[in-house]
Amino acid sequence: MSLLTQEHELVRKTAREFAEKYVEPIARKMDRENYYPRETIREAGKLGILTPTVPAEYGGGGGDLRSAVVVLEELGRISGGFSLLVEAYGILFADAVNNFASKRHKEDVLPKVAAGEKIGAFALSEPCCGSDAAAIQTRAEKKGGEWVINGHKMWITNGLYADYYLLAARTGPREARHKAITVFLLPRSECVEAAPIEVMGVRGTGTAELKFNDCRASDDDVVGEVNGGWKIIMHTLDVGRVAISGVALGIARGAFEEALSWAKNRELFGKKLMEMQNAQFELAEMLAAIETARALAYYAAYLYDTGSPDFLLMSHVAKLQTARLAVDVTRRAVQMEGGFGYSKESKAEMFYRDAKILEIGEGTNEVMKYVLFKLLEKRFG
Ligand SMILES: Cc1cc2nc3c(=O)[nH]c(=O)nc-3n(C[C@H](O)[C@H](O)[C@H](O)COP(=O)(O)OP(=O)(O)OC[C@H]3O[C@@H](n4cnc5c(N)ncnc54)[C@H](O)[C@@H]3O)c2cc1C
Repeated sequence: MSLLTQEHELVRKTAREFAEKYVEPIARKMDRENYYPRETIREAGKLGILTPTVPAEYGGGGGDLRSAVVVLEELGRISGGFSLLVEAYGILFADAVNNFASKRHKEDVLPKVAAGEKIGAFALSEPCCGSDAAAIQTRAEKKGGEWVINGHKMWITNGLYADYYLLAARTGPREARHKAITVFLLPRSECVEAAPIEVMGVRGTGTAELKFNDCRASDDDVVGEVNGGWKIIMHTLDVGRVAISGVALGIARGAFEEALSWAKNRELFGKKLMEMQNAQFELAEMLAAIETARALAYYAAYLYDTGSPDFLLMSHVAKLQTARLAVDVTRRAVQMEGGFGYSKESKAEMFYRDAKILEIGEGTNEVMKYVLFKLLEKRFG
């Protein structure tokens, strides 16, 4: 049984052509110069690639989660940075707005975001708390009929250039943890201070540290219910973890293709590297890892698309395993290229650095195992 339909294959064709035509020329510039590809984002908007799951009536791709994984895989094959940028933009921000925001918000915000005219970011993590997100300290307090937001967010993808923040803030005592967190859809204004953060991989994604100083919001800017933000955050991250698997699959493929071409061309000891059995075994290992990642990513997305109760478990299995597989494949690709693999000329070197974030962002490997153990306890006691 194929998990993908003809429609998914059409999405793949569009995403692949887009990635080769528009992302390939800027992929190294993103990495080397930390260049944020504002124009390429607009181009992606024209094709619904930025927001694959947002309904077509708002200008999105109108697809399911498998469509998003297809897009992220094809983008990741060319640039891990561009793929991660789109994942944070299209899933963590736009898909969450589509799932949880009011009709007014959707009509107002989604068309501009889907077109790539306005940028959205998902702002949860703080200097104090990433894995322990229920302990966040950013506060929203009701004063004179409006919300006043103060706090500090960290590591926010697209954060430097965002026009809107889907922002998690505390609206009750810290001891209440996840029961006192509210999500706001906050347009950027002068109350937001954004500073760039230099990162090891997925560069050019506008990673930022953000300070919110007396930012004002109305009741209308609350997404969902006051103190009901946790459910939104968890659902969004569960979906995001599958989307990240698509990024991982793409990065692994990009590195594999580079290693394969190197092995075919490199000559040593009077023969091609590809003729040596260890190189053949390495390529076979990479292929096996990629096909495992593919099966996991699309199966997890299929479970979500079909409303299966097994989705939660598989989203965490897929995130944990595909992140590891991407790190493993990219490490092998660097190794196969020898000294060249360690140089800045090598794409495998870029993919290796890009892959590492997949074991950290949207829940570290350890957080995946924590959730899986909780699910295991429920299932087996
Ligand atoms: C490039 C980049 C982009 C990002 N983009 C975004 C974004 O767009 N929006 C956003 O909100 N956040 C974003 N993040 C933040 C990311 O989600 C967090 O960095 C991540 O969740 C880890 O949190 P932390 O950095 O606070 O590490 P910590 O939570 O302090 O973790 C430190 C170590 O403790 C381990 N640990 C945690 N819990 C346990 C446990 N129960 N048992 C054992 N060990 C444990 C962790 O696995 C880790 O190894 C981004 C981060 C980076 C680097």
